[in-house]
Amino acid sequence: MFKKILITSGPTLEPIDPVRFISNRSSGKTGFHLAMEARMRRLGPVIFITGPTAFLPAQTEIIQVETAQEMRAAVGEHFRSCDVIIMAAAVGDYRSLKYYPEKMKKSGERITLELVKNPDILLELGQHKRKNQILVGFAAETEDIFANAQKKLLAKNLDLLVLNEISEANPAFGSDENQVYLVRPDGVQRLDKSSKARIAALVWDDIVALAGRA
Ligand code: C5P
Repeated sequence: MFKKILITSGPTLEPIDPVRFISNRSSGKTGFHLAMEARMRRLGPVIFITGPTAFLPAQTEIIQVETAQEMRAAVGEHFRSCDVIIMAAAVGDYRSLKYYPEKMKKSGERITLELVKNPDILLELGQHKRKNQILVGFAAETEDIFANAQKKLLAKNLDLLVLNEISEANPAFGSDENQVYLVRPDGVQRLDKSSKARIAALVWDDIVALAGRA
């Protein structure tokens, strides 16, 4: 059905010194289920680019990375040959300005760590997207979720944005279940709370329908 599918998954990890890092609570389950579902349905070969996670799909070409910059380089190498690109990775927005090659010593009561912005990989992909490519992003929002999602959809030139509402009732990160909305340029669809495996199936239904319309 598709020539090649690129899925990013997991968190990124930004080192501070040889033993410390900045990361986030992404488990990599969503990306994992998206890759498994693509294989089960024989939708096309998958290239799976992932940050550190225990959830690695079987019989799939996997590239393991740590930092946002490494993920950007790996994605950049494969983007052009793929017709579906799903950015399910929770890419860290910031990294430490400096890498301290020696373990940082305990010092004063307060210390300051300066952070710099990481590249927004998905934004860059949106700028280079071709007509025959379907670009899917994820978003985790806690306030003004629909307005922010629509803004992101436009700014990143996406065909589909899977929106997680992060709340106490729906932590999303790390959980086996999730409640999401599928946000498209032509409207929003609420999916009932269900397993990440089922959500992956519904996201693929939407992508396949999008491809049929193209
Ligand atoms: O803007 P926000 O971080 O909420 O966007 C989330 C989407 O953008 C996800 O699909 C994520 O994989 C992608 N992203 C990215 N590079 C970043 C931050 C997020 O590709 N530095």
